[in-house]
Amino acid sequence: MKIPKLENIISDFPHLEVVIKAAEKSGIPTYVVGGFVRDVFLKRAKGDIDFVCVGDGIALAKETAALISAKKKVQIFKKYGTAHISDKGVDLEFVGARKESYSKDSRNPDVEPGTLDDDLSRRDFTINAMSYSLNQDDFGTFLDPFEGLKDLGKKLIKTPLDPDTTFSDDPLRMMRAIRFATQLEFDIAPETFDSITRNRERIRIISRERITTELNKIIASRLPSYGFKLLFASGLLQEIFPEVSDLHGVEIRNKQAHKDNFYHTLKVLDNISEKTDNLWLRWSALLHDIAKPATKRFDPKAGWTFHGHEDKGARMVPGIFRKLKLPLDERMKYVQKLVRLHLRPIPLVREDITDSALRRLLFEAGNDIEDLLTLCRADITSKNEKKVKTYLRNFDKVEEKLREIEEKDKLRNFQPPISGNEIMEMFSLPPNKIVGDLKNGIRNAILEGEIGNNYDEAFRFLIKLAEKKGLEPSKN
Ligand code: ATP
Ligand code: MG
Repeated sequence: MKIPKLENIISDFPHLEVVIKAAEKSGIPTYVVGGFVRDVFLKRAKGDIDFVCVGDGIALAKETAALISAKKKVQIFKKYGTAHISDKGVDLEFVGARKESYSKDSRNPDVEPGTLDDDLSRRDFTINAMSYSLNQDDFGTFLDPFEGLKDLGKKLIKTPLDPDTTFSDDPLRMMRAIRFATQLEFDIAPETFDSITRNRERIRIISRERITTELNKIIASRLPSYGFKLLFASGLLQEIFPEVSDLHGVEIRNKQAHKDNFYHTLKVLDNISEKTDNLWLRWSALLHDIAKPATKRFDPKAGWTFHGHEDKGARMVPGIFRKLKLPLDERMKYVQKLVRLHLRPIPLVREDITDSALRRLLFEAGNDIEDLLTLCRADITSKNEKKVKTYLRNFDKVEEKLREIEEKDKLRNFQPPISGNEIMEMFSLPPNKIVGDLKNGIRNAILEGEIGNNYDEAFRFLIKLAEKKGLEPSKN
């Protein structure tokens, strides 16, 4: 791999120029380092630049901010001796070079000032430990003490020091190793991977939020299954997310086997990732069969069944989101809804399907109907390509039918044409069960196609329905 000249990098990232001036002015030896350098080589660098200096990183950040503008703010993390500047969509991260020593039960190290080499050797992977000097006396020199460039060429994730030391010091790095392998589509060096397997239980000292941040980056990658296979093979998945690792395995009874729901789920996750970058839709793929282990039964006649796994799965979603510190807002509800409905479009492929079945699904899925169909299509996995193609073609028909009904009846964001308040006023009723019954009666009539989704038809229907219940409209 050719080493780009620092001058060429500067022309793409003008903030480097400012930091070079700040380093010169303050006399603090400064290097550009870490993820930024790696990503420049991989041509995927965006607005996130890491600097390390031999001295006071906060002072360097302040000097830099002053050069940008008198008002430029520096965010200071005194405890860690780091500082952050945000400018024109670019994040500049400053840290003083340091040496660290860790105690056994915490990932918060004792920190003391160190040399550039000390600092590079405490970094997580060789490909993250490369730097360029920004100083006048050796300007532009590429420093790569752990041969990160070679590993970049070999597409290899490897720790700079003995992996047991690196991972035991900060077990989050095990998640980062698998996350980088998945994002960059790299291998993990065998001795590094073995060490993750050995140290997997150490992940327990890491906060859930940080683990989940890495997990989400794996799920957001092009081929998330790769990350999950690495997590599973190392035993980390069993530690951090046993509900997913429990999907693994095949049981055979009476010569009948069910499919391995772990590999099926990963296939669905990969399938959906080809179609969408929506993280939560990807989450719904990951969780769609999560209750299969809990609902598995063997019936001598029917074979393996997983009755109700969609409902039970939906009920498991809040607990999983809470444990993983995922958001408990409408994003959770969205995932829950898709898990609950994921089987519903399947019977709609039948020729004799009624409009009312289609209307009911449109009503329940609302605006998420397209996402539900995307999930359903991703869920079609079989080794038989022809079978998959036939299923997918049948699905085109379902989509066509749904489109027709939607155009006609506008059920997607169904609002009852007559509100409960209106019903109460009309018949002088207090808020009670009868009002609910009348409202539901109207809704069902619309879904069944007995009346159209409009006020006039609903009004006439309501009068008749109320009459049957012995109610009369009040005079006023
Ligand atoms: P990305 O920005 O895509 O997450 P990155 O490599 O830039 O990847 P950051 O978390 O931004 O990761 O960290 C910047 C650099 O700091 C890394 O490249 C690495 O050198 C170092 N680093 C970050 N976290 C750790 C860690 N837990 N242990 C050791 N070094 C770390
Ligand atoms: Mg970064």
